[in-house]
Amino acid sequence: MMSLGLRYKNNEHILEEKIVKGVPYLSYPMLENTGIVKHGFSTRLGGVSTGHCATMNISTTRGDDPDAVEENKRRIAAAIGVKAEDFTYTFQTHTTNVAAVEESDRGKQFMETDGLVTNVPGICLVTFYADCVPLFFVDPVHRAIGLSHSGWKGTVHKMGKVTVERMREKFGTDPSQVVAAIGPSICQECYEVSEDVIEQFRENFRKELWEELFYRKENGKYQLDLWRANRAVLMEAGIAGERIAVTNVCTHCNPDILFSHRSTGTDRGNLSAFLALR
Ligand SMILES: [Zn+2]
Repeated sequence: MMSLGLRYKNNEHILEEKIVKGVPYLSYPMLENTGIVKHGFSTRLGGVSTGHCATMNISTTRGDDPDAVEENKRRIAAAIGVKAEDFTYTFQTHTTNVAAVEESDRGKQFMETDGLVTNVPGICLVTFYADCVPLFFVDPVHRAIGLSHSGWKGTVHKMGKVTVERMREKFGTDPSQVVAAIGPSICQECYEVSEDVIEQFRENFRKELWEELFYRKENGKYQLDLWRANRAVLMEAGIAGERIAVTNVCTHCNPDILFSHRSTGTDRGNLSAFLALR
């Protein structure tokens, strides 16, 4: 099998590299095995964008050529097996706003919104990333899905829990029946933060977790683990630990294959997460 050359944090089979119609993407066997969704996470590869957006970027906020973005949408949609016209997007501003997507919202972009939930088959939820944490939710019982963006602010404000609560309210989702995935994003070794960020984690996460989530270094800064923090949030929301797939791929450890804000600053495209009910 062809390999993208990604560097993994461990040897567990959590993520699968797929190359379909020449377009690579990552997928989670745990989500795939629910049998009711199509999903994926894009890489920098397989698109037509050039320069700092090279090559696979479908975000219109990165200064990319609109024609290239349209072609990239067609390519990634074909690879994942969904329709580009069904892409329904967030416009993320580090909030905990979660929109419920209805049939009439197909193709829309939700402003000031960091999470989407739906039970409409075919609609493909799309969110954007470059180090922040993608959260995927599948409720196989009520046939409902959620997709949300959780950076450090979203994590502090427990975006994962807010998303699951929205699914419960809209679709009757029981968190114990949800299968979830924490997507490719920055790892603890790459994520240095300052005291003011950690202060907010201390305020919002119980003390027993602190040692697991961050450690202080000699320079007074901290290394923060957004993967474990989001896993803790999802477990607090009522999802069982064994039903949460945690990424073992870091965006910052793979700057040639994945867009990483900490690697390139604002001079970059966006990675995208896709989730649709079959
Ligand atoms: Zn890393």
